[in-house]
Amino acid sequence: MSSTIEPVLDPFALARELSGKQLIDGQLVASRSGRTFDVVNPATQETVGQAAWGDEADVAAAVAAAVKAQKEWARRPARERGRLVAECGRILDAHKEEIARLVALETGKALRTESRVEAGVLSDAFTFFGGLAPEMKGETVPFNPAMLTMTVREPIGVVGAIIPWNVPLLLMALKIAPAMVAGNAVVVKSAEEAPFAVLRACQLMQTVLPPGLLNLLSGMGPECGAPLVAHPKVGKVTFTGSVETGKIVYKTAADKLIPVTLELGGKSPMIVMGDADVDKAVAGAVAGMRFTRQGQSCTASSRMYVHADVHDDFVAKLKAKVDAMVMGDPLDEATDIGAIVSRQQFDKVRTYIRIGEESPGATVLKCSAMPADPKLGKGLFVQPALLVDIPRDSAPAREEIFGPVACIFKFTEYEDAIQAANDTEYGLAATIWTRDLKTAMDAVHRLEAGFVQVNQNLVVQPNLSYGGVKASGLGKEATLESMLEHFTHKKTIIINMG
Ligand code: ADP
Repeated sequence: MSSTIEPVLDPFALARELSGKQLIDGQLVASRSGRTFDVVNPATQETVGQAAWGDEADVAAAVAAAVKAQKEWARRPARERGRLVAECGRILDAHKEEIARLVALETGKALRTESRVEAGVLSDAFTFFGGLAPEMKGETVPFNPAMLTMTVREPIGVVGAIIPWNVPLLLMALKIAPAMVAGNAVVVKSAEEAPFAVLRACQLMQTVLPPGLLNLLSGMGPECGAPLVAHPKVGKVTFTGSVETGKIVYKTAADKLIPVTLELGGKSPMIVMGDADVDKAVAGAVAGMRFTRQGQSCTASSRMYVHADVHDDFVAKLKAKVDAMVMGDPLDEATDIGAIVSRQQFDKVRTYIRIGEESPGATVLKCSAMPADPKLGKGLFVQPALLVDIPRDSAPAREEIFGPVACIFKFTEYEDAIQAANDTEYGLAATIWTRDLKTAMDAVHRLEAGFVQVNQNLVVQPNLSYGGVKASGLGKEATLESMLEHFTHKKTIIINMG
């Protein structure tokens, strides 16, 4: 591959250029079967390109290339690996605009509010983990004065990384950057809906990485993802996706006795106390619900428990704020909210809204106008919906919708809010909004979630440990500790000098 690649700012042209390709052993190649599948622009439902339809044969080729590359890579000094991974960050940063446009095209995420933000933080993950390379340290152990006893961190070998479509670039980066710094080679399986931006990112990184170290396959979950997990030479799997698929991955990994990291779903609670700053809480609800990402976030604050004293004010202000957001063409700079990623998700989200509308006692507030542009007539746009006073045991209140649908419940007793917040199979994130330090301190300890915030709702970022408890997953990502725990094993060495 050439040492420099010119940015292609037209995402339609770039999608065509990358059509039918995957990355194996440093080369953009077709699938072994020659098959492809369509990639659709959710804002129009027009086909923008074809992704390579990878299967077991492609998995075999990619893993073979990774095995070969890993041996030489692991022999390099850790700091050199870190330098090259950080260099990937620099290259990705120089190409962030084209990557942002491409991810907006394939996922329907608005360029200004979402896709550009994601492409911007992508490089940060490589810079961050590249800088952690010197921390690949072991220990000396006071075992016996006559024996030098120490531990070293060794790479696992080949890592299989399976990623979703909602934040494909960042979630890929949080897996591949630490895996490579730790001395592993990686085979990534992209999500069916979003194969191109991650492929472009991996193609760009080939200008500094040795061939075969980072491979990317596209294809269907059962045909391409499953054989990757099952491959005997894959020694670790890191997965982000649904609980259902996570369990399948875990079972296969159990048969092979290999470690897995699972980042799964969520139904994250947000508690707004009666003494909260309502305006700040409303801004936090907009950010936390990821309305600009059509709610397609596993940490979405999709269950809001609001104290009766501020409930009506909160709901009215939230509705006004979301109403003011512009839904439209993801590539248009004026757009705040884009389209739902796929027909399947679109139907699913609308079903939950309908259940809300049919629920006795519930009020469904639809926000933000549908796009007026006729060219978006077939687009997968859904008006963000606030499901107020929906029964707590109804499907929209309990299940992960992965769409712009927030359930809002009124409470009067703090204990009831905490109990309701924890009454879920999930445990990814939670927030509480209050001016009272004692309440905040009590809640942060009692909320069952991997990521708890008070009076704010920041998104995942490098150096903040990220991951869930309960059905939301196994293992944390995004930190030094995650790099060491998930992508290395500790070897104990004793040198008897007696
Ligand atoms: P979503 O519902 O968000 O698409 P999935 O869990 O189905 O979530 O998908 C997340 C990723 O897992 C995708 O890359 C998908 O192709 C992959 N996947 C789906 N089924 C399997 C499977 N049986 N084995 C491995 N990967 C799979």
